[in-house]
Amino acid sequence: MQTQSLKIEEKIPAPKVEIDEGEHLVGEFVGDENGVTVLVVGSIHGNEPSGLLAMRKIAPELKKLERELKGRVYLVAGNTRALRQDERYIDSDLNRHWTPEIVALNDPDSSIRTNRVEDAEQRELLRIFDRIFLTARNEVYALDLHSTSAASPPFAMIGDTLRNRDFGRKFPATILLGIEEQLNSTILEYINNLGAVTLGFEAGEHRQKTAVDNQEALMWLALYHSGCLGNEHVDVERHERTLREAMGDPKLIEIRYRHAITPADDFRMEPGYENFQPVTKGEVVAHDRMGEVKVSETGLILMPLYQKLGNDGFFLGREILPFWLWLSRALRKMGVPGIVHWLPGVTRDPFNEESLVVNTNIARIFPLQIFHLLGFRKRLWKSGKLVVSRRKHDTRSPFVPED
Ligand SMILES: [Zn+2]
Repeated sequence: MQTQSLKIEEKIPAPKVEIDEGEHLVGEFVGDENGVTVLVVGSIHGNEPSGLLAMRKIAPELKKLERELKGRVYLVAGNTRALRQDERYIDSDLNRHWTPEIVALNDPDSSIRTNRVEDAEQRELLRIFDRIFLTARNEVYALDLHSTSAASPPFAMIGDTLRNRDFGRKFPATILLGIEEQLNSTILEYINNLGAVTLGFEAGEHRQKTAVDNQEALMWLALYHSGCLGNEHVDVERHERTLREAMGDPKLIEIRYRHAITPADDFRMEPGYENFQPVTKGEVVAHDRMGEVKVSETGLILMPLYQKLGNDGFFLGREILPFWLWLSRALRKMGVPGIVHWLPGVTRDPFNEESLVVNTNIARIFPLQIFHLLGFRKRLWKSGKLVVSRRKHDTRSPFVPED
């Protein structure tokens, strides 16, 4: 069920998008080769055409502006074979496909070929990404454009590094922090770990025409905020107005819970939930084969599932107060994350220098939130111990040359 106000809005008419298999590169524009790189990935979910449509809209304009670019711009379509069929994916979710193992399997230089469609898609994308990242001579900014199955105001998502926060704050957008702790192996996590500044974006409901407008506004603002184009070429005010009108007051929200599902669960969301709708502890928001699904804590419901395919029933989030942001920045700038293993019960993981192993008793005294503050995220529980790891490239870019 959609809300009344959105019902009357224009929908993207065509059920399918014209695109060839493997036709990933929508546009490549190079002005100053020593400048920043802006990489946009759109429609990595094939049932989310707005990313691709918006990239196709701005490509001719970027062509005209190519010589003015203080850097390079790459517009890349995600799951081309799924887009052709208007499916989220064919064999497996291409946005959960970026583990080191699968990436190694689909290395463009490897001779191994599987018959999974998304392996072919990933190999083609890796060939493009390798070329972009190997030739970057300055900061790399990456956007990942999505849309939602339920009616929703647009919002942005970032992995919690200080560099991502600084970039994300420049947009008049509600930002979700910490989604990558819940969703493993996304394309944005992969690109983030390569050292880029990353921003994910959900532009609204899949077939809402305004989703294309929102994607477009976000891309222009990213070109401006990355320094790739000046405000003589970008109508900053107009694009900010587009986002502001669609989003309302920007908030910063921390993801606290993901309701994971499998097809066997027979998960059915109760009708009428909208993104960011407040829910209270114990509220029945869905049913599955075990009966009622109640929310575990009071907060905001995020991305309730109203489509067939997907592994996320819904998320729960909570607004973060500015004080915590300030504290977290101060602690991280002071280098506290580098000495947190001095605490009793906290040791460095001998197998991974970015990770800490936390004794369960200590985890009870210092809850996960403390580690979040310091830029760590939960990885797993290993023989009764909590393993947290630091996000790479928190404060320094590997692409910006040192003075
Ligand atoms: Zn998506």
